[in-house]
Amino acid sequence: MHSTEPTLPETPEPLLRVNGLTRAFGGRPVVDDVALQIAAGQVTCLLGPSGCGKSTTLRMIAGIESADAGQIWLDGALVQDGPAGLAPERRSIGLMFQDFALFPHLSVAQNVGFGLKGDKAVVASRVGSLLERVNLSGYGEKRPHQLSGGEQQRVALARALAPKPRVMLMDEPFSGLDNRLRDGIRDETIALLRAEGTAVLLVTHEPEEAMRVGDEIALMRAGRIVQQGAPYNVYNAPVDRAAAAFFSDIN
Ligand code: ADP
Ligand code: MG
Repeated sequence: MHSTEPTLPETPEPLLRVNGLTRAFGGRPVVDDVALQIAAGQVTCLLGPSGCGKSTTLRMIAGIESADAGQIWLDGALVQDGPAGLAPERRSIGLMFQDFALFPHLSVAQNVGFGLKGDKAVVASRVGSLLERVNLSGYGEKRPHQLSGGEQQRVALARALAPKPRVMLMDEPFSGLDNRLRDGIRDETIALLRAEGTAVLLVTHEPEEAMRVGDEIALMRAGRIVQQGAPYNVYNAPVDRAAAAFFSDIN
């Protein structure tokens, strides 16, 4: 008997894959059967109105919030399977929040090197090169309160980059910044992450921001991803009236 193997096109395994991710609080589903895929080096925006479950999704991917059900693979490895998951520090992820969460009593250099282990001189040189990359050479001995909001944001970026994560998870990290500086800081941050080859999952409630920085947009509503695709497609072919209305205030 003859049998021919079917030849399938090779689809590369996405860097981050989420399947069936679900979480309820007090019996109310807040994240409901979420599926997401992020390719290496890509910027994906998780976009949706306040309260739709974006932060909870991000926190489960980070491993700082437990899941009720679902799987998360990072670089092909299963890091979350239902309620069981790897500790956050064992996932190759970096985290940035709106509140930069810098340690006020530590210097900039100590903040950046906080999670780094090993030989002091090696850590110091790595911290130096990280500060250089975010344009903060010479700031190492300062304290966070001596820095502007934009500078603090760059310290948080350097700290998040220190363990060389494959994916940077960002929860509205720019929304606390002064309006005039915000777009510039955001564009610089995303450009730097692109240059590093770090994939990004950026949570935002602003369609304009997602359109500007995303390679992909995952549109979320009431705990579910209702549409995922290139910004142009999501904008021009909204999945329903509510999606169209959500984008309608962009000029
Ligand atoms: P988003 O980031 O899109 O604004 P969140 O993921 O923060 O949404 O929250 C989604 C919903 O889940 C909200 O109604 C919020 O109040 C609720 N929620 C989030 N965390 C908790 C928690 N720890 N306990 C109870 N409810 C929560
Ligand atoms: Mg949120």
